[in-house]
Amino acid sequence: MTAQNQPWQGKFEPLDNLIQPANTYRTASGAPGKAYWQQQANYKIKATLDEKNNILSGEETITYINNSPDILNYVWIQLEQNVNKKENESFGDFNNSLIDSITTRQMQLLTRAKDFPAGYTIKHVKDNSDNHLKHIINNTMMKVTLNTPLNPGESTNISISWSYPITDRSMFLLSREGYEYFPEDDNTVYLIAHWFPRMAVYNDTEGWQNKQFQRLGEFALEFGNYEVEISVPEDHIIASTGSLQNHNQVLSKTQIKRFEEAKSSYNKPIQIITKEEAEANEKTKATKLKTWKFSATNVRDFAFASSRKFMWDAQAVNLPTNTVMAMSYYPKEGLPVWQEESTKAVIQALEVYSEATFDYPYPVAISVNTSNVGMEFPMISFNGGRPKNGKISDFQKQNMIRVIIHEVGHNWFPMIVSSDERKWMWMDEGLNTFLDQRTVAERYPNFDYVTPKNIVPFMDGDKNILRPIMTTSDSELFSQFGNNFYNKPTVGLQMLRNSIIGKELFDEAFKEYANRWKFKHPNPSDLFRTLSDATAADIDWFVRGWFFTTDHVDMELSNVRWFKVDEENTNIEDKLLKYQTKINTKTKGSQANAKDFSNGPEIITMTDTPDSHYGGFLSRINEKDMRKSLSGKNLYELTIKNLGGLVMPVTIEWNFTDGTSEIETLPAQIWRFDEYQVTKTFIKNKEVSSINLDPNFEFADVNMTNNSFPKTEIPSEFEQFKKKN
Ligand SMILES: [Zn+2]
Repeated sequence: MTAQNQPWQGKFEPLDNLIQPANTYRTASGAPGKAYWQQQANYKIKATLDEKNNILSGEETITYINNSPDILNYVWIQLEQNVNKKENESFGDFNNSLIDSITTRQMQLLTRAKDFPAGYTIKHVKDNSDNHLKHIINNTMMKVTLNTPLNPGESTNISISWSYPITDRSMFLLSREGYEYFPEDDNTVYLIAHWFPRMAVYNDTEGWQNKQFQRLGEFALEFGNYEVEISVPEDHIIASTGSLQNHNQVLSKTQIKRFEEAKSSYNKPIQIITKEEAEANEKTKATKLKTWKFSATNVRDFAFASSRKFMWDAQAVNLPTNTVMAMSYYPKEGLPVWQEESTKAVIQALEVYSEATFDYPYPVAISVNTSNVGMEFPMISFNGGRPKNGKISDFQKQNMIRVIIHEVGHNWFPMIVSSDERKWMWMDEGLNTFLDQRTVAERYPNFDYVTPKNIVPFMDGDKNILRPIMTTSDSELFSQFGNNFYNKPTVGLQMLRNSIIGKELFDEAFKEYANRWKFKHPNPSDLFRTLSDATAADIDWFVRGWFFTTDHVDMELSNVRWFKVDEENTNIEDKLLKYQTKINTKTKGSQANAKDFSNGPEIITMTDTPDSHYGGFLSRINEKDMRKSLSGKNLYELTIKNLGGLVMPVTIEWNFTDGTSEIETLPAQIWRFDEYQVTKTFIKNKEVSSINLDPNFEFADVNMTNNSFPKTEIPSEFEQFKKKN
C-alpha cells in the first residue's frame, strides 16, 4: 500500500475524546479542581490472632465522613477474604485447563482437591446507636443500607464484628497474604493484609467502586486514621503499619534500649532482635496473649506481620523534612542476605523516591521477609527472597533487592498517590517501576535495569493477543501483565524523559503530578494532562499511541538519494564530467533505489527565480552567491517509512567518509502530514558513508535491520548455515 491511499488516523489529534473531560473536580491542567472532594474512612479495630486454629477475628468501628456533594442511602464495604471461598473462586481464577501431566500443586490450584475453610463470617453490622444495619454480601463486596441517609458533610459510624480463617499462602497463586508454616520448628509467620472489612471508594468519576476482587486487580481505598489493637501470643513480634503506642507493654527493656539507639544510627542498622534471641523465642510457644497498639495517620490501608520467629533490625534515615526508621523483620531462614541487604535497600528507595517526588511522610518503612512474591502496604511490605542453605545466587540476590526497592516504592504509588488499582494496574505499577529502575540505576550501578530494548519482544508480539496499557486490570492476561503494566509504561516514561521532553522538564512534571495528587485519587487523564501542562510538550500523540494502542515502533530508512548542487546552471556539463567516473552510464534519477553511495551524487540544478519575486526575495538574495555557497555541499534526501504504526521522533546518525559522525533528531511532529512516510532533505558539508536511524536504541524499534543505509544485508539462513560449517 502506498502512503496516498492509507487512511489518516489522526495520530496528532488531542486526547479529548479518549479521556474524561475536565470539570470543577479535575482541571484541564491535570490538577485537583476547586470542587475536588474525597471521602474519609477512619478505623478503630481490635483484633485477635488465634494461633492454634489460624483464625483472625475482630471488632471494628468505621467512621465514614461524606465529603461528597451527594446523599448516600447505602455504602459498599470490601470483603476481599471472600475471594478465597470455594464458591467464589471462579472470580479469582486465571486458568483452568487440564494438560496430560500436572503436578499435585497445579492440580490443587486448579481444582482445590483438598478443601479448606476461607472467607468472612460477619457476626453483625451496626450503626451509631447499636441498631442493626441491613447488609447484603455480593462475593467480595458488602452493601450496607443506612438507617438514615448520609447527607453531604455528615459522618456515620458503622461497627462490624467479623472473623475469617487465615489461609495457607502456598495454596493460592498470587497470594498476597496468609500464613507460612515452618514444620522444622513448628512455627508460623503470619502476613496479615486485606484482613478487615474496608470502605470501598466513592468518587466523582466512578460513584461506588463496583469491581469485585479477582486477585489481579488490587485495591481502591480511602484515606483515614487508624487505631489498631492486635492481640497475639505474648512471644510474638509484630511488624506493622503505623507507630507502636505501647512499647513498654510489648517490648523487653533491651529491645527498647536498642530501638532508641537505632533512632540515631544513620550509618548502620542496629539489631533489635538477634538470631540467638529469635531462636530462643521460637521454642517458647506461649499461649497467653499480649496486645500491641498502633496508630497511623492518613493511610489508605493497614497491614501487619506476626511471628515468634522474627529477627529485627532498624536504622534511621534523615530526609529533608522527616526522619524515618527503615526496618526489616525476618526469620533466620532469610539469613545472611536479608540482614545484609534488606534495610539498606529500604533506605535507597526512601532516598531516591523522596528526591524524585516528595519526602516520605510516614514514621517507619518496613520490609518483612517472605518465602516468595512481594506485596506492598502503607509503611510495610512483604518481600520474597530466601537463600538455600545460607547461599543465594547473584541473580537471586539482585532480584531480592529489586523487590524490596519496588515494594517500598509502592508507598508513593499507590499508597499516597492513590490511584485505583482495581481499574488501572499500570498507574501504580508503571510509575513505581519507572522509579525503581531509576533507583537501581543510581544506587546499584552493576545491576541490569529495564531499557527500551527490553520491551521489544513484547511490542513485536501477536496483535491478536496484545492489549493496550489502557486495559482494566482484570481484563489483562496473566501472561502479559508484567510487560504491559510494569515495563511498557516504564519504557514510555523513560522515552518521554530521556528522548522526547528532556530530563529537567520531565522530572519537574513528574514531581508536580506526585505533589498534586499525594493523598488524593488521580485518574489516568490527570497524569497525562499534568505531563503536558508542566512541560509545554503536547504529548497527546505519544499517549495516544503508547497507552491506547498495541502499535509498535518500526521505522524503515527506505530510500536515500545523494545530490550535489550545480554551482552555475550554465556549466552543468563540467559538473557532470567531474563525476562521470562515479555516475558511469546511469542516467539522472537512477539512484531512486540505490543500495549504497557507489554511484556518486546526482546533480541538482538551481534555476533562476522568476522576476516576479524582485520586490521581496530577489532584492535581498544574490542567486549566484547562494548557488556558490551551496557548491560542493552534499544534499541527502531521506525517505523514512513508519511500518509499526507508532509515530516517534526520528534520530539520525550520520557517519562521514572522514570517520566522524553526528546525530540529529527530528521531532515526532514530522509525521503529522503523512503518518506513513516522510521525505526530508539535509545539507551536509562532508560526504556521508552511512546513515542509521535510532542508533542509541531510544525508541524500541522492533526491527533494526531496516534502519540503515547502505542497506545491511542479512545473510540468508542457508548462508549462515554455510558459514557455520
Ligand atoms: Zn508492584
